[in-house]
Amino acid sequence: MEKKVAKSSDWESSLGRPEPVCTACGAAFEPGSEFINQMFIVEGRPERRVYCLACHEQVTEEPFAFWRSKVPMPEAGKPRPLDLEFLAELFRRLHGDQVDPSHDEVRYIVTLLLIRKKVLVQEGNDEEGEGDAKCEIMLTRFAKEKEGPIYRTPVPLITAERMDVIRDDLGRIFNLQS
Ligand SMILES: [Zn+2]
Repeated sequence: MEKKVAKSSDWESSLGRPEPVCTACGAAFEPGSEFINQMFIVEGRPERRVYCLACHEQVTEEPFAFWRSKVPMPEAGKPRPLDLEFLAELFRRLHGDQVDPSHDEVRYIVTLLLIRKKVLVQEGNDEEGEGDAKCEIMLTRFAKEKEGPIYRTPVPLITAERMDVIRDDLGRIFNLQS
């Protein structure tokens, strides 16, 4: 039998269901059960894989980030909570000591999303490099951390179409409707 592995293109359909399914065994998660989210950045695009706790113990590939979620109990009319905490954690990882240039687009769009959600505030702009290598830098800090560190985000050259693709990826992964 063919192994059931969700591809990133399947996310739209799998996330449209009331509860997600395990990437490895395909089991649907019961309301109230915990599962593990793993986030990878594949060719510059964010990709989420979810595992039941049993399958997660068997997985050896190291994700860029991971977090636990709980399937909400069915309560009519209650919107799913935003995963802003996890998006903030991803932001911190993307601004870690070893900044990977292939993450520039995701890093920039995560930053914009968190500004829009008022998790980050913009503190201004800076520039780095000279001539053709000149790059604009966005300066932000966490809104709750008035004396907190300033994060520097290089502004990549990116088309509107590519912006939309990555923003939609993140919106699905982090449940950021609205
Ligand atoms: Zn499983």
